[in-house]
Amino acid sequence: MENKVKKDPKYIFVTGGVVSSLGKGIISSSLANLLAARGFRVTIQKFDPYINIDPGTLNPYEHGECYVTVDGHEADLDLGHYERFTNIRTTRANNVTTGRIYQSVIDKERRGDYLGKTVQIVPHITDEIKRNVKQLGNTGDFDFIITEIGGVVGDIESLPFLEAVRQLRWELGRDSLVIHLTYVPFIAAAKELKTKPTQHSVKKLQELGIQPDVLVLRTEHDITAEARRKIALFCNVAPDAVVQSIDLPSIYEVPVAMHRQHLDDIVIRLTGAEAPMAEPHMQPWLAFLEKMHSADKPVTIGLVGKYVELQDAYKSIDEALFQAATYNGRKLDLRMIHSEKVTVENVDELLGEMDGVIIAPGFGQRGIEGKFTALKWCRENDVPTFGICLGMQCMVIEFARNVLGMADANSTEMDTTTRHKVIDLMEEQKSISNLGGTMRLGAYDCCLRKGTKAAEAYGAEIVSERHRHRFEFNDDYKGQFEAAGMICAGENPKTHLVEVVEIPGKRWFVGTQYHPEYSSTVLSPNPLFLSFVKAAIDYRAEKAATN
Ligand code: GLN
Repeated sequence: MENKVKKDPKYIFVTGGVVSSLGKGIISSSLANLLAARGFRVTIQKFDPYINIDPGTLNPYEHGECYVTVDGHEADLDLGHYERFTNIRTTRANNVTTGRIYQSVIDKERRGDYLGKTVQIVPHITDEIKRNVKQLGNTGDFDFIITEIGGVVGDIESLPFLEAVRQLRWELGRDSLVIHLTYVPFIAAAKELKTKPTQHSVKKLQELGIQPDVLVLRTEHDITAEARRKIALFCNVAPDAVVQSIDLPSIYEVPVAMHRQHLDDIVIRLTGAEAPMAEPHMQPWLAFLEKMHSADKPVTIGLVGKYVELQDAYKSIDEALFQAATYNGRKLDLRMIHSEKVTVENVDELLGEMDGVIIAPGFGQRGIEGKFTALKWCRENDVPTFGICLGMQCMVIEFARNVLGMADANSTEMDTTTRHKVIDLMEEQKSISNLGGTMRLGAYDCCLRKGTKAAEAYGAEIVSERHRHRFEFNDDYKGQFEAAGMICAGENPKTHLVEVVEIPGKRWFVGTQYHPEYSSTVLSPNPLFLSFVKAAIDYRAEKAATN
């Protein structure tokens, strides 16, 4: 019998200081990418210090898009980065909020699990945090668990998490380490990079009993070796463990930049992990970067949605489009179009230059008429068009109104009194009043109809994609739609719910009830996005040839 010694997993905590939005998620993802490329089994989890149980009920203006895991958890958008950078699927255990921690502790208190003790932040909340950190490590599936602590060191909200990190660091010793990400501002008038905020932020961490092992300095300018030595000296960190994260043209270049500064080696050395590979196997990743750098001709895609002012609101769609454009040898020229601004009068002007149009997911009435106007224009002008979730539902409604002559066709999300409820709630959804986690969420199988664009794109009969919606295509109308030219190209094999619609005569007119963007990663781009962007490129060439 093989005598394998099971190694304890290593825990890496990533904290942030000075300001928010420094890209902890990208640094965590890049490190995970490198460790995975060295042959380790890696996962990343994020702790969010807000009280919401999950970000599912948050407006995208608050924290950007809501990402969905295969097991149906509504998660922070950083989990999207984790998956795109590592190709590793995340689950509910990979994203925990303060709200979930408290909920679980309060449930235990009500059950009497604490045997009459006074329930306190320390040790009960911190113990619950520690239990959640170790939950992934205890599965035995991972060599490294990277835990990103949301927020900025010094915030009231993140204190219990940092206290849990302090305790874990003490318990785990060399099996753990802390990476602290800070900001080094450049003062233009003095032409100087300032290290003081970093020193203060590390001091703050030290006051909480945590000594960072590695510092990652976010900067817009190269940090000199001398400045790094100074920081190392003042912060009790080895000089080679001070690395910079300089602004790069693409987030996908960050793993390479981190490897050049030996971040993977430093982590391996400090934790005493035994790397299966002396050098990371980065060929596939580098090949993607090579494609990205050599793509010079553009493909212009318009995204019609109502949260276009916020960069992160459609993060996964942006990234899936970018990956698809890169694999098609093109540079993505993404134009955000506010659905509230689209009218019959200006639609020609707004969409005229597009090689392809995406109608975005969303909730509620606002901006919906603009989506119908855009869709009518796209359908009539035969522009490659991709409707995602609400976008697909809008495709169905527009078709019902303008092709099937049902002038008041609608989704009951927008109008409960309409005679033609072409998009409607399923029976079991009708009695639900709790908004949290009650939609159709997570991955479901979809059976594709042979000969459709969707089946061709995937090259498969059954695919599995993630959902996040309450409303569905109303099956009663299926026959009428099919007879008039909008077909059901994919359905759930068990429930027969319509998952994909398509107009076969068009260049590319496909709507998916699911969100294919969530499964698109750098090394495994989503086939539908690849196919849509390819159609847009072909259309661009056609337009150029006829002009
Ligand atoms: N609002 C629609 C529904 O709940 C679509 C949701 C979405 O686009 N994610 O069904």
